[in-house]
Amino acid sequence: MNDIRLPFQNNRNFMGVPSHTQQPICVVGAPTDSAVTYRSGTRFGPSSIRDASLMLTDGVYDKFPVDIAEYCGDAGDMPIVSGNVEQALSTVEKHYATLCKNTYVVCLGGDHSITLGIMRALTASTGPVAVVHFDAHCDTWPDHFGQPYGHGTWLRDCIEESLVDPKHVCSIGVRSPVDRETREYLSGKGGTTISAREAMKLDPFWMAQSIRHVVGPSLPVYLSLDIDSLDPSFAPGTGTPEIGGLSTIWLLELLDQLGDLRWCGMDLVEVAPAYDHSQITALAGATFAWQHISCVSQRFTST
Ligand code: MN
Ligand code: MN
Repeated sequence: MNDIRLPFQNNRNFMGVPSHTQQPICVVGAPTDSAVTYRSGTRFGPSSIRDASLMLTDGVYDKFPVDIAEYCGDAGDMPIVSGNVEQALSTVEKHYATLCKNTYVVCLGGDHSITLGIMRALTASTGPVAVVHFDAHCDTWPDHFGQPYGHGTWLRDCIEESLVDPKHVCSIGVRSPVDRETREYLSGKGGTTISAREAMKLDPFWMAQSIRHVVGPSLPVYLSLDIDSLDPSFAPGTGTPEIGGLSTIWLLELLDQLGDLRWCGMDLVEVAPAYDHSQITALAGATFAWQHISCVSQRFTST
């Protein structure tokens, strides 16, 4: 008798893909939450996203139809010790640097501070990149309550360290209370911020045109997706929720439209399952990761 297993009886890898990094794409977890401002718990983000992803196993994403198990492996979680943000950043950088030599990396956070470690590793080979950043927060604070690094400082640090070209950075969904200097930092450097209110007035098609215009044709484009960009009704399981956000279907449609950008990596951050209901946030996170992996897999198909 064949040993048939349902997805939830299988391994706990993302969508049940194999446990290795021999495929052209890999998923890796960065289970951090030492750098958060408010409710903690993103250290359980990667495991909650993997659990929710099992329901998607063997599925084929409509817009980018491939079996991702042929192109994607799961590298497990980075061995991050909690309590020291700078040490966590250096662990992320070191592990990401090893992975990104041979694979396209999709990183599951974790709090948003990990993106600085990712960028330090990634841009060592690519040079400065363009960024498409979805977030309720601008993430350009100058410091984290007197500490150098927090989950709201990574974008400013990436600009200050010349890891990203600010003229080709587009932050979408921003709406949190913030002081003026922090709010205007990105535009002061030539970048673009589109508030959640402005964004939700636009059809995803027209939003995609604006983003395309900002990131331009010449640089590789990094996707950083903070799940709190979504409205809390779609993503309650996060540490710093802000009302009046993006809708899941709007963002899925927008990212479908942007499938042909020169993507060079993605992170999906700030899922905190302790505040989730019915895995709605983790499933949203899993679905965006699946969408992106399916999109990038198109590069490796022979047809
Ligand atoms: Mn963020
Ligand atoms: Mn945020």
